[in-house]
Amino acid sequence: MATPKFATVIRRAEVGEHAVVLEFTMQEPSYLDFQGGKYIIVHTGIEVGEGKTHKRPYSIFSNDSEQKRFELAVKRIDGCLGSPHMHGLKPGDKLQFSGPWGTLWPDDDRPADSLVVATDNGITAAVSLVNSQLFRPRLSRSRLCWFVESDGYFLDRDFVSKRLPATLGSFEVVTCAPVGDHARVGRARQWLAQSLTAGAPEQAFLVGDGDVVGALRGELVAAGLPEDAVRIENFFNRPPKA
Ligand SMILES: Cc1cc2nc3c(=O)[nH]c(=O)nc-3n(C[C@H](O)[C@H](O)[C@H](O)COP(=O)(O)OP(=O)(O)OC[C@H]3O[C@@H](n4cnc5c(N)ncnc54)[C@H](O)[C@@H]3O)c2cc1C
Repeated sequence: MATPKFATVIRRAEVGEHAVVLEFTMQEPSYLDFQGGKYIIVHTGIEVGEGKTHKRPYSIFSNDSEQKRFELAVKRIDGCLGSPHMHGLKPGDKLQFSGPWGTLWPDDDRPADSLVVATDNGITAAVSLVNSQLFRPRLSRSRLCWFVESDGYFLDRDFVSKRLPATLGSFEVVTCAPVGDHARVGRARQWLAQSLTAGAPEQAFLVGDGDVVGALRGELVAAGLPEDAVRIENFFNRPPKA
């Protein structure tokens, strides 16, 4: 089992009706040591039976130039355990977690043409990825697209725009059908087909709804991208393990 780490909440800000941004300061160890795009697994301490407790992954939202402090942005999903617990945290509360984990980051610092697609609350990982040190050489050659059902779904468009690096090639928000509606996969495929007419990227980073990002991965590989050039992180609607 991974050694648990500890941080303390130092700031809590509600953004709109469904999102909270929490800032933490590291306690043990004193540095998080993460790359933008990675996530931690939060141990909520809520018992769920058979000696188990509720644990949920959250992507680090902040910039990896700062390692003593970090931020998480969490969408509240009512009636569940993890996200309401995160929304209930307040300054002074302690967080236990493991990590950082994940593969949503470039292998090298080449200036490669890159496509980043986030759906829904997957925008947290995308923002941190494009702000990371490793991503910097690619920024002007990179496109970020965010599929989301409405401005009130999570963080709003202006809030996200202000967190993006000024040299990012482009940022586009595509309004799509809600999670679970089959129309959203079709809309995403249509957007990608249109986007590929301007040229295929060398690398792609896809994060959020597994139904959407799984379909886009298939399209990108069919368009000629090597499988290992498409990095993917499913926040929900994860495909069953093979
Ligand atoms: C690698 C990774 C990183 C993540 N990073 C973030 C993050 O930065 N911010 C964040 O808010 N969440 C993030 N998540 C999602 C998070 O881990 C939880 O799944 C979420 O907070 C809900 O937890 P819960 O315990 O409240 O409900 P759960 O018991 O986990 O979920 C209840 C139900 O809601 C569904 N669900 C989960 N998320 C959504 C959604 N967005 N829309 C619709 N249905 C959903 C689940 O599939 C499940 O059926 C991440 C997930 C992964 C795998």
